[in-house]
Amino acid sequence: MHNITKRTIITFLLALVLIGGTCLFVVKLVKHGDEWASFQANSHLFNDGVLSSGRILDVNGDFLAQASGNYWTYNDDSEIRKACMHTVGVADGKIATGAITRFSARLTGYNLITGAKHVGKDGINIYLTIDEDICKIAYQALGSYNGAVCIYNYETGEILCNVSKPTYDPAYPPTITDGDPAYDGVYLNRGLSSSFTPGSTFKLVTLAAALNEIKDVGNRTWNCPGTMQIGDQTITCTGTHGDIDIKTALNVSCNCVFAQIAVELGWKKMEKYANQVGLTTSYDINGIHTRPSSFVFKSKDDGDLGWAGVGQGKDLVNPISMMVYMGAIANGGRAAIPQLISKTTLLGGLQNSVYIKKKTDKLIDKPTAELITDYMKSNVTNTYGQSRFPGLDIYAKTGTAEVGGNSVSNSWFVGFIKNQGHPLAFAVYAEGGGSGSGTAATIASRVLQAAVA
Ligand SMILES: [Zn+2]
Repeated sequence: MHNITKRTIITFLLALVLIGGTCLFVVKLVKHGDEWASFQANSHLFNDGVLSSGRILDVNGDFLAQASGNYWTYNDDSEIRKACMHTVGVADGKIATGAITRFSARLTGYNLITGAKHVGKDGINIYLTIDEDICKIAYQALGSYNGAVCIYNYETGEILCNVSKPTYDPAYPPTITDGDPAYDGVYLNRGLSSSFTPGSTFKLVTLAAALNEIKDVGNRTWNCPGTMQIGDQTITCTGTHGDIDIKTALNVSCNCVFAQIAVELGWKKMEKYANQVGLTTSYDINGIHTRPSSFVFKSKDDGDLGWAGVGQGKDLVNPISMMVYMGAIANGGRAAIPQLISKTTLLGGLQNSVYIKKKTDKLIDKPTAELITDYMKSNVTNTYGQSRFPGLDIYAKTGTAEVGGNSVSNSWFVGFIKNQGHPLAFAVYAEGGGSGSGTAATIASRVLQAAVA
């Protein structure tokens, strides 16, 4: 009797271990199954370390790339290949966020039920949300500048354009030596995986904080003497603006006023709003995690906080997160979370996935979003000139980010357009492009005009 009880207990414990182990396995399979399937040593799916099945198309079904044994073939047009390289990826996996690498499990047709196996001979078709023609125009518009052009539909989340430079032709990969300035950070997608000094585009965050936190803010004025001392720092402005209200301060992009506002708000509120508008969020774009922006508002020196409030100092902003904030302003406070996969189909054309739209948290209040929208429109009409944006109902802010030394400033242009068929938010960044109202605004105008055509 004693023995039977003992055996029962042992059997029961063994059963528990088995059930526990099975549960653990199932949880891990659900969580990591696609990673296991896309492990490069998996000879079932990889040929000489190269993913051996799948085809990648753009949103219109135009061909981007396809597996062909132990290599990949790409679009016929070398400019489309270079423009889409960071989004499509490369066969040797050097672009970690590229579709060939990041979506390899999907490309092979891996799923939880059937596991890792080729679906048919050629795997799965992935339709990305990007439009190869718009990406090509963005590539051309960037010209010789390194940088990023990010445009997406803030209602649906579809990323229309995600071009990063420098780039190279994936069909003819060059030999790149470490430190070669022509290929500075070439393996990184600058839109998704980098962050840069935002310059005055960041005033749109200080503005959101001020509109929410400073009483009677619309009826106040601040003084810009052109140059002023805050703490241990000299804040320099682009002009001597005198007594101006906050809307005019945004129109003329006054450093002195926005530095004073940041100090008045204090580091805690500045930090709160930088977080709240989503800049420090890492967005999950079909499993690709964007680099969060970073800031240092807390300092013994108010001058540091002043500079942080005008987008200088230690501020580093990720272009995609800025683009999403622009989408949230356009969309009344919440925007769609960006996505890169439009749909997937089996070889016969049968669709085997659905597009699920996801929304951000509330990044700003609706009344604040509406006020900022009005201010951003007045930037265009009062400062940049509507005639530079033919056919576009555009709302925007420039940024000219100083990078120290004798280097030419980096040029930013961020904002959105209102257009029934094309509700698009954007962030354009050109390294060494000089003023934002020059280089980046010109690039944005050209690409957006093509996008709504
Ligand atoms: Zn000023």
